[in-house]
Amino acid sequence: MSAGCCAASPIAQAHLGATVASAGATIAPANHAAANPGSDKADLLVEGTIVTGAFGEPAAEAMAVSGGKIIGIGSRADLEGLIGPSTKLLKPDGVVIPGLIEPHMHIWTSLLNLDWTDVSHEACSTFDDVVATIKATAAKTPSGEYVLAKLFDPSLYQGEPNLTRAVLDQIAPNNPVLVMNASMHYLYANSAAFALVGIDDTVVDPAGGTFGRTDGKLNGVIGEVPAMILLIAKLPKPTPAEIADGITRILNACASQGVTSLREGATGTLAGVGELAMLHQLNAARRLPVRVSTSQFAIMPGKTPTEVAATWKEAGVTPFSGDEMVRADAWKLTSDGSNQGRSGYFMQPYLGEDTGGHANWTPESLLDAMKAGFDDGWQVTIHTNGDAAVEMVLGVFEELLPNYTQKDLRHFFIHYSVTTDDQIARTAKAGLSATLLMNHVYYWGAAFRDTILGPERANHLDRTASIMRAGISTSYHSDYNVSKVQPLLSAKTGVLRKLLADGTVLNPAECATPQQALEAITTNAAWQIHADDRGSLAVGKRADFAIVDVDPWTSSPEGWDAIKVSATYIDGTVAFQA
Ligand SMILES: [Zn+2]
Repeated sequence: MSAGCCAASPIAQAHLGATVASAGATIAPANHAAANPGSDKADLLVEGTIVTGAFGEPAAEAMAVSGGKIIGIGSRADLEGLIGPSTKLLKPDGVVIPGLIEPHMHIWTSLLNLDWTDVSHEACSTFDDVVATIKATAAKTPSGEYVLAKLFDPSLYQGEPNLTRAVLDQIAPNNPVLVMNASMHYLYANSAAFALVGIDDTVVDPAGGTFGRTDGKLNGVIGEVPAMILLIAKLPKPTPAEIADGITRILNACASQGVTSLREGATGTLAGVGELAMLHQLNAARRLPVRVSTSQFAIMPGKTPTEVAATWKEAGVTPFSGDEMVRADAWKLTSDGSNQGRSGYFMQPYLGEDTGGHANWTPESLLDAMKAGFDDGWQVTIHTNGDAAVEMVLGVFEELLPNYTQKDLRHFFIHYSVTTDDQIARTAKAGLSATLLMNHVYYWGAAFRDTILGPERANHLDRTASIMRAGISTSYHSDYNVSKVQPLLSAKTGVLRKLLADGTVLNPAECATPQQALEAITTNAAWQIHADDRGSLAVGKRADFAIVDVDPWTSSPEGWDAIKVSATYIDGTVAFQA
């Protein structure tokens, strides 16, 4: 599933790339913040219960903001001297907390199926629910029009049932149907969908792709991009305005969970610099409700990573270029696939199989690809799921790091899912950090334990306690749209490690403390995305905050995921309202 990061990007690229590329080939930062340099008097005074984010510190009564930055925080009396004739007053109905930070999610690949019907395990707890949901969608869709569904995950249902052509023909005889697997490695189609693109039982499998067959006839299960891409060829393509609207909707969904800053996890996969151009244009039109940090993807069709690095540089996309709302911060690679898709790279085989997945690179080619990022001064970030992938990536980091003198780039592992004690110790020694996908535990923990990895490796999943004990700065992320952006659910799972499937606790020795879990979605995540001016509320930091109904810093983690966000503010200005 985490291969959702990149596995579907050629499909999204084919479907959306040209439209996004039409946004242009250069970046034009808007620099809105420069318009208000601030003064020694507050332009905004926030009064109420203000949680600074420093654990154990009592809530403040008031916060003074000037030019988007905090110039005072403490008791109301403390701030008296900062109030001037033009100071506006905000008395929010709720608790003020630091804006939450999402350090790894995907805007671009998520646009592909933003409007597709959700048949995830979250939405459909049984396979029968999946079938019923697709049937109900078809019943509402005019005859002949596409019925599209996403995030189907057979690994979470008893017996791992497949959505076959026969099943889909039965429930939607009058519409072409396409259903995307959550791993994005499989697509399911009915007869009408095959007919629409002229594919029949005589089709030859393209290199690297498969059309599943039963008794010589297409069974509707289509594997991997080269085959899947043929099925999406006739989908109506969105306009630039529809794409811009889709981005705004994705970011609003993040803001609705209290997020004020995020890191986009694979920028450039659809349209290279056109993606950054579009983000800057949306920002210029003040349509971004969340700050976006981008991580430039090391792969573009037909180019070596070194050539990709040169392409970014030529377009003016260099480390920390951009402005206070859209900034290019990192180099992004993917070392292996997805653990529940059984393509994460492990030292030992998956349960019931004779292989432990595979790496996307040889150690030599990975070194070249990471070096291309190092050479241009980028923060290097890399998707790494299985323990063998961690071993390979760590080895390359250990080889490269001594050759570079530029400090404080804060290179980090994305996912860092299954790790050994030795790897954690070496990660700390190398000065690297990690962001964990805690929903791996919540949604898939039981499947990892029982059918995919076995109990021993499942216990080594997302080891917050061990990683933080080693002194490694650790954050939590969603990998959206692999899972929904909901940092407070990730933090709750970090503390409780309770599995959705059966309520048991996956290795209690790895539970985070409430403080560690909240730091993972605030200050640690901010540090990782080079947002030192965010993540907590203190003098000199940006006035990025959320209004919530219950204070997570003083309430039980059991209730964190039910906390409601009524508004978010960026630089003291409303960014989102529920
Ligand atoms: Zn990802």
